[in-house]
Amino acid sequence: MPYSRNAIEKFLNDPTDYRHGTPQGYVNLRCRGYLGVCGGRCREAYRIYMIAKRAEWRETQPLVPGDPRHGTCVGYKNHGCRCDTCRAAWNARSKGEKARKKHNKIRLAQLEAEIEATQA
Ligand SMILES: [Zn+2]
Ligand SMILES: [Zn+2]
Repeated sequence: MPYSRNAIEKFLNDPTDYRHGTPQGYVNLRCRGYLGVCGGRCREAYRIYMIAKRAEWRETQPLVPGDPRHGTCVGYKNHGCRCDTCRAAWNARSKGEKARKKHNKIRLAQLEAEIEATQA
């Protein structure tokens, strides 16, 4: 279940919430700032979490042909795919804000689903 607007706002206004300093705080509860309510602990937790996740995804979820993540930076970076379209997306990543946004959107959607699944 996605968090409601109110739940997110309450979280962001309460630095003592136990979810600060967790990847969940960053991904699901939108605590994104370096100088935010918890001093960037959520962001740092997310960064560390992603390093482990990427390694895991590369091992366990190589992209199969037809996967919608081909042609994205996610395919290249998170899944270690080196097909032509993933490579092209990676090479183009610094050129456009659009590519970066697409990358973030897909990555975060994937993480939200995973984190929610582990909480159920
Ligand atoms: Zn936080
Ligand atoms: Zn690919």
